[in-house]
Amino acid sequence: MIEAHNLTKSYGTVQALRDVSFSLHEGEIVGLLGPNGAGKTTTIKILTGYLQPDSGEVRIDGLDVLTQTRAVQQRLGYLPESAPLYPELSIQRYLQMMADLREIPADEQTERISEAVYATNLTDHLTRPIGELSKGFRQRVGLAQAILHRPKLLILDEPTIGLDPTQILDIRRLIQRLARHSTILFSTHILSEVEALCDRAIIVLNGEIKADARLSELASTADAILVLQDRVSGLEKELGKLSGVRGLEPMRSQDGYPAYRILGTQKADLCPSIYDLARAQAWPVRELRRDAKTLESVFNNLVTSA
Ligand code: ATP
Repeated sequence: MIEAHNLTKSYGTVQALRDVSFSLHEGEIVGLLGPNGAGKTTTIKILTGYLQPDSGEVRIDGLDVLTQTRAVQQRLGYLPESAPLYPELSIQRYLQMMADLREIPADEQTERISEAVYATNLTDHLTRPIGELSKGFRQRVGLAQAILHRPKLLILDEPTIGLDPTQILDIRRLIQRLARHSTILFSTHILSEVEALCDRAIIVLNGEIKADARLSELASTADAILVLQDRVSGLEKELGKLSGVRGLEPMRSQDGYPAYRILGTQKADLCPSIYDLARAQAWPVRELRRDAKTLESVFNNLVTSA
């Protein structure tokens, strides 16, 4: 659905993007995650055709964004960081204006607007002037305009920025609903947003992609956690014989039970072979699981090593 190849962009002496490449497949919901100034908005503006890269290429649904812009716009719904809403217009009037701009035929507009306001829970508010709406409601209006033309792909730039916790949950639920029919890429600097919504995260720092993986892959480690009912003798020696094990670290006991981190040499899952060994040795196993990092620690490690 999106193919971005070797995107580079500078603003004067500031290099905002350096050789950024990634792809998005149909049906995915992917978070573009990065701190302020990382290059998220620049990436999104290039993907949506609002900004030309210095070099590189973007294809949306197989179409070139720069030369086939019109066809791309028909497939794409875009919520910019600050949506250009018109405070004096009612929601209804604004959506009609957007439907005209999108060249939705007049006889289809009523149905498309009803669909978009139903999806964004705005049906009961159509006559309210946009200037009187809370920020959460305005984001919903922004999303309604983004889906008016039933796009296959939605690109949302920081859709929950500046919202209170209730509004954030509201917009997240909405994004989840929209994901049933569209592929979605959204940018955020909030880790929990990615954890709540995405299958995959693309982490961007200083204009470069530092990680692009499914959340489970980002979080996985080579290590396993073993909790026993009682201490056993010869644990370290027996585990050391397993291939892929490079050591054993005692951990703080868990609920009073002895716990260990078994260090792996590669990212393969050690648990099946540890399980077989534990059975053969009749170790009193309470718990055996693969160790996992939080997205927060993955992100912090990337930031500090950047
Ligand atoms: P934020 O989360 O703060 O919106 P971002 O990840 O979206 O940040 P960008 O807005 O893409 O980051 O900015 C990337 C870099 O390019 C930053 O260093 C920013 O200061 C710079 N930049 C962005 N737009 C311009 C501009 N119009 N002129 C000059 N520099 C710019």
